[in-house]
Amino acid sequence: MAKLVKIKCEICNLTDKKILHYHHIIPQCDAMCHNGKNNISILCPNCHSSVHAGDIIIIGVYPSSDGRCLMWFKKGEEPPISKEFWLVKDNPLVLTIGGESDDLENMSDEKSDNKE
Ligand SMILES: [Zn+2]
Ligand SMILES: [Zn+2]
Repeated sequence: MAKLVKIKCEICNLTDKKILHYHHIIPQCDAMCHNGKNNISILCPNCHSSVHAGDIIIIGVYPSSDGRCLMWFKKGEEPPISKEFWLVKDNPLVLTIGGESDDLENMSDEKSDNKE
């Protein structure tokens, strides 16, 4: 398999090749899921720690005129593409986002039921 060349951080476009990291988009990926290049993103140390902290959510690697394009968004911001097109559905951080909005709906229901 051809190795993914580290050219720049796919989130902030930093080009210092010496400090760039490889990051597995879906951790503990087995051979049946997005293994290989489409499960790997190239990140600088800053963006890498933001991804692991959950402040940046990676949606997946999409084809583009450059060959590939990493889709991502910052926590609390509007995702660039609608959720049904997200490639990384197994990403626990992506699932957390959906869970949060469900919790908010449940909370408002409880309030309206409380008549005391
Ligand atoms: Zn970066
Ligand atoms: Zn990582």
